[in-house]
Amino acid sequence: MTRDNLHATMEALLPVGRANAISVAQLGELLGSKSIHYLLEGSRPASSTVRRLIHAAQEAGVQVLSSPRVGVWMAAGDAEVLELVEELRETVRALERRMQVINGGRCALITCRAELSGKIKRRGGLYCMPGHRYQAAVLRGSS
Ligand SMILES: [Zn+2]
Repeated sequence: MTRDNLHATMEALLPVGRANAISVAQLGELLGSKSIHYLLEGSRPASSTVRRLIHAAQEAGVQVLSSPRVGVWMAAGDAEVLELVEELRETVRALERRMQVINGGRCALITCRAELSGKIKRRGGLYCMPGHRYQAAVLRGSS
């Protein structure tokens, strides 16, 4: 089965609206029972496989939404899309706060480690200057 057919099947299987969301495991069972994709091959796929398929469908423009607290569902409209975007933004902010705490208020470039200004800390920054973010990425080999 082609990827387009997989996406169409996902759309057909998933309930519409956040209030009707099902779990990723339930979607996996539904997809597995259909044996519709080489990744799924008859048995119940791993949740990491189902999540990968959800993300691939999202990148292909399918309005499938997922949230760890809610499950997976088809968007009932833009309001649900924006609601989830804001939830994800909050998750990012929480991760940034944790990164700052772990980083101990210092520049995250290992060759710098300067004390960060209050202004940088308040906006969740991890580097004393923009160039140090770039240098740190180069050092990690992932600019
Ligand atoms: Zn620095």
